[in-house]
Amino acid sequence: MSEHGRIALVTGGSRGIGRAIALRLARDGARVAINYVRHADSADEVVKSITKLGSSAVSVQADVTKSEEVKAMFQRLRESWGPPEILVNNAGIIRDSLLARMSEEDWDAVVNIHLRATFLCTRLAVRDMVRNRWGRIINIGSVVGIGGNIGQSNYSAAKAGVIGFTRSIAKEVATRNITVNYVAPGYVTTDIVEDLTPELKEKILQRVPMGRFGRADEIADLVGYVASDSASYITGQVIAIDGGMVIS
Ligand code: NDP
Repeated sequence: MSEHGRIALVTGGSRGIGRAIALRLARDGARVAINYVRHADSADEVVKSITKLGSSAVSVQADVTKSEEVKAMFQRLRESWGPPEILVNNAGIIRDSLLARMSEEDWDAVVNIHLRATFLCTRLAVRDMVRNRWGRIINIGSVVGIGGNIGQSNYSAAKAGVIGFTRSIAKEVATRNITVNYVAPGYVTTDIVEDLTPELKEKILQRVPMGRFGRADEIADLVGYVASDSASYITGQVIAIDGGMVIS
């Protein structure tokens, strides 16, 4: 790392898993840009927590599904700190329903935030990383992108698409010291999971050999490792972190 630490951008860093990742990268010495779309107060809280740790952070508002907003966010970062060296594509939403009842709006919204936003942010990040001959791109996927899930055809299609994207870009940039990986959490206790009914939570837990939901800091620890110099020979991988869900 440079004397000021690596520059990291975490999309959707204001809450949940993204928040934990931002804190972890900051603890590892990075300067972290916290992207958010609506919850400025949450993003500011993350910035304050990072500042307390003695690291630098800024919050950056941008809807990552919109090309112009993504461009403006990267431009702002380049002008203040320089281009991101670590990009974590984490921002996400769910809009669940069975396929027969799924609206085109819910399909597009979910595919756009997971697949289009990952494309938009990675395209910009990669240009600078290639020039600098170093980079880490970490896409936060899901075990649902591997195994599918009832009521989540939009989400699982988008997350599966990100696997193909991850592997293709990993091949494109492999010789430039840039790694591209896909971290696939199982169910993690965040706002997304808090909103599920108790019955559904119970049903999900029956499919988790470890019998509990994951914690955001457990996902963040893995991302911290993949983002580090120690993980320099890991690329194009789908790394599940799910209490054993994919083997059950
Ligand atoms: P949360 O709902 O807790 O947080 C979502 C984050 O994404 C917020 O920071 C939100 O910003 C941001 N966001 C949403 N839409 C946009 C947008 N258009 N532009 C920019 N930022 C946006 O989600 P989780 O922490 O649970 O999920 C994070 C990632 O992890 C997602 O990709 C999700 O699919 C994945 N995941 C989650 C699992 C879980 O069990 N929780 C399991 C497997 C994968 P704001 O605060 O401004 O709304």
